[in-house]
Amino acid sequence: MTTQGYAALTLETLPSRLGEVAAARARLGEPAAWRAREVGDGNLNLVFIVEGPEGAVVVKQALPYVRLVGESWPLPLSRSFFEHEALVRQAARDPGAAPEVFHFDREQALIVMEFLDRHVILRRAMIEGRRIAGLGRRLGLFCARTLFRGSDLSMLAADRKADLALFAGNAALCDITENLVFSDPYRDAPMNRHTPGLDALAARLRGDMAMKRVAQHMKWAFATQAETLLHGDLHTGSVMVSDDDIRVIDPEFATYGPMGFDVGMLVANFLMAFCAQPGHASDPGARDAYADWLLEETAAIWSAFVGEFTRLWRTERAGMLYEARLFEAQGCGLGAEQARLERLAAIWRDALGFCGVEMHRRILGLAHNADFETIADEAARAACEARALEIGRVLALSRDAAPDMAAALETAREIA
Ligand code: ADP
Ligand code: MG
Ligand code: MG
Ligand code: MG
Repeated sequence: MTTQGYAALTLETLPSRLGEVAAARARLGEPAAWRAREVGDGNLNLVFIVEGPEGAVVVKQALPYVRLVGESWPLPLSRSFFEHEALVRQAARDPGAAPEVFHFDREQALIVMEFLDRHVILRRAMIEGRRIAGLGRRLGLFCARTLFRGSDLSMLAADRKADLALFAGNAALCDITENLVFSDPYRDAPMNRHTPGLDALAARLRGDMAMKRVAQHMKWAFATQAETLLHGDLHTGSVMVSDDDIRVIDPEFATYGPMGFDVGMLVANFLMAFCAQPGHASDPGARDAYADWLLEETAAIWSAFVGEFTRLWRTERAGMLYEARLFEAQGCGLGAEQARLERLAAIWRDALGFCGVEMHRRILGLAHNADFETIADEAARAACEARALEIGRVLALSRDAAPDMAAALETAREIA
């Protein structure tokens, strides 16, 4: 990995180093008057909010290592390149979903982008019990548009293959997912941790051969089924919300993979927010209505996904797959509709598996969720996490039976 010429920004050096960048200057005004603060709360990168006399921007810069762990865990700066490439594609495929990019510097691994000033991280909103109108629907639309339009259902085959080759360079980030999501939770890995009180459950899951097989089938799917360009890290910490706007940030894990991955990870994070609600309740039951709302929004993710995927299938199916010349042009639109339903069933089946694995790794692996971490009472936290572990297991193991979303949520409600 070459880091020649690269230097991490500091609060002190930022105005002089970005002062000459026309795109930043145009939005902020005179660099001498810029004020920067570092707000990165993620696991990997530096994020600065820079305010000037005329406006504000966000500057996100990769570090040559994993921020959460430190310099002992190197990670290529090129993830910033892939994040930028993914942001550009998402903006084209689902206009308005991603923050606008103003400037990208490959050597410095930095992106200057729109400051979402009215927005908060969705995970925080869910911890506070805040409802966001149209939340699940908007995220379902995002998934359908980006996943459909990044696939062979829509793209020219040669373009998609070139893009697949490009994103194959993001291997180091895939490696994190491959190990931390699909394998480490199911073994006694050095960086794992879990809440005291979960020892027995962790041991049981690590001895659960059926669950481990599903986890490895999902890893197989993630690593080999290059269906479309994924966001790759679509949890509730990668969504920012205001009262009237919903955005998706942080696609540095972008890679070609199975459509069910983004959908399943998102659903998992909604279900974990649901499981955490009793731990945030001031009085017993105080969050019940909010927990119900979370399940309604979880259902809305999938119904919006199905609706939009269907619309795109019928109106934008311009790629080499399921060609109209085989179906509609032969007077057999029904065949295309049946094929669509079969594809959706396969995506949902994958999503159930990815959902379960994501719920496990956030509780037993390295990277935990604030939904649970902010529950100060350890016994209460362990109780919430235990329910999430079980929901994840049941959903992952149910994927062959493929319960529909309503049945999956009924399972979640029963276990919780
Ligand atoms: P990481 O890759 O390290 O997880 P993120 O892109 O998730 O970094 O950003 C970390 C945090 O910085 C987010 O949780 C959010 O609070 C803030 N942030 C990131 N991008 C923006 C933005 N465009 N506008 C406002 N805040 C942002
Ligand atoms: Mg992040
Ligand atoms: Mg976070
Ligand atoms: Mg990130």
